[in-house]
Amino acid sequence: MTHPQASSKKHDPKGGNCTHTAWVKNGRVFLSNDDDGYYQQDFKNREELQAFVDHLWQIADEAWPKQSDDLLERLRNAYQCCKSCGTTYGVYSVGCSSSRIGKCDVCDAQTWVTETRDYAYLITGIRRVETARKSAG
Ligand SMILES: [Zn+2]
Repeated sequence: MTHPQASSKKHDPKGGNCTHTAWVKNGRVFLSNDDDGYYQQDFKNREELQAFVDHLWQIADEAWPKQSDDLLERLRNAYQCCKSCGTTYGVYSVGCSSSRIGKCDVCDAQTWVTETRDYAYLITGIRRVETARKSAG
């Protein structure tokens, strides 16, 4: 399928000319893309629009998790972590740790995790990061 009037204009996804526009017509809110005449979405009421916006926020939470990106915060607040983060930031201390599949609180990986207690609460990593920051000013 080609655009009837835009056959000479090549679509450039990096061109930045795919801006969404919204307007009101016949008591509905329309959403469209100025680069694609075939894409148009309309909302009959606030509930429909809210559902659409909620969906956007849901995707946004996936893309940008509402967690601190600060490593120090993460290390301090971590309840469980993966083996890799545990050995990087902590010292393995006990032999009776219970591993389970879960999310690493430090690197977000979905893998085998244990409580940070098993790695001395990542205190060596926390001290190291604190020291590095202090010397960096
Ligand atoms: Zn990890």
